[in-house]
Amino acid sequence: MPRVFRAPGRINLIGGHLDYNEGWVLPIAIDRSCFLAAKARNDRLLRIHSVQMQETFECHLDDPRPQQHHWSNYVRGVAWALREAGQSIAGADLLISNDVPMGAGLSSSAALEVSAGFALLRLSDLKMDRVQLARICQRAENEYVGMRCGIMDQLVACCGRRAHALLIDCRTLEIEPVPFDDSSVAVVVANTMVKHALAASSEYNRRRTECDDAVARIRAVRPNVKTLRDVSWPEIQQMASTWPNDIRRRARHVTTEMLRVHAAAAALRKGDFAELGRLISEAHVSLDTDYEVSSVELNLMVALAQQIPGLLGARMTGAGFGGCTINLTGPNDAAEFAAKLAESYEEKTSIKPDVYVCRASDGVEEIV
Ligand code: ADP
Ligand code: MG
Repeated sequence: MPRVFRAPGRINLIGGHLDYNEGWVLPIAIDRSCFLAAKARNDRLLRIHSVQMQETFECHLDDPRPQQHHWSNYVRGVAWALREAGQSIAGADLLISNDVPMGAGLSSSAALEVSAGFALLRLSDLKMDRVQLARICQRAENEYVGMRCGIMDQLVACCGRRAHALLIDCRTLEIEPVPFDDSSVAVVVANTMVKHALAASSEYNRRRTECDDAVARIRAVRPNVKTLRDVSWPEIQQMASTWPNDIRRRARHVTTEMLRVHAAAAALRKGDFAELGRLISEAHVSLDTDYEVSSVELNLMVALAQQIPGLLGARMTGAGFGGCTINLTGPNDAAEFAAKLAESYEEKTSIKPDVYVCRASDGVEEIV
């Protein structure tokens, strides 16, 4: 009998583009997952079938690294990174199916990596700390897939907790679970169904370079600053008058967003959802105007949400340039809000969006 595992997708309530700046983020793991049925083999073959891709891929654990981009690299990369970390995993047959939409900013990639990593370890009777597994999966995506993502997605897929958001310090990887109970608040995810994939990958890398640029300028004056986490916006303002406008605005988003995450965590601890919603909406404006990672469709989805009664706050989630928004509402308003939002987006664009209520769920686990 195969064993069955799941790892969740995620939404980030607030803290957009902060993970690679070693800031704080406040995500929840969602009740949409990558499911993986796995059977150990007694040779060194890895056979992977993806239901979504309708394709089977076979390779040897010792094969050289592939050159071309292929979905199987997310799994092969994890097998490679596990072996690099000294884990002697065996070959396996893996059947993958997910209900996290792919490429929509809900992190189907980390859900796939983490479910595969967890399964490969379990099949070989190996145990690993969850934070370490997240690091290994991030390394797979960075070095094998070639995507310079931060650590947040993999960490949430590993460490998510039912009915909780996670306040994550992306420098120390310390995690504080903060109650996020669906009897008091709801998250509605709205997929614009549009993804500007080219812009997404090139601009993501450009934002990282722009943040490095800001840090280099600051370090010329304050050499012990390591990342934008180490400075405040008022401090940057004093030295940024000669900086290019773009770099200054990127730094303003990052440094003001750090404050918003702390304020949001404080609001959540107090159960002040109106304040949490206000901060989420403020974060969207900052991502749109200062960080410039939103899109016409995301802005439309947020604007339409603001016209519907019951909304506490809305913003884009994920890296941007399309994908999903998140909408905070009261628990009793959520279903009606979701229906109205879907209707008004379709009316404006003729695109039928996926809009659904999400619940905070657990991280990776074996389910059968
Ligand atoms: P996101 O993580 O926001 O969904 P990414 O571009 O980071 O977007 O990851 C999406 C990619 O992950 C897909 O294009 C595909 O290569 C891979 N992937 C995710 N889920 C699956 C799956 N079930 N089967 C095959 N590949 C998958
Ligand atoms: Mg991803």
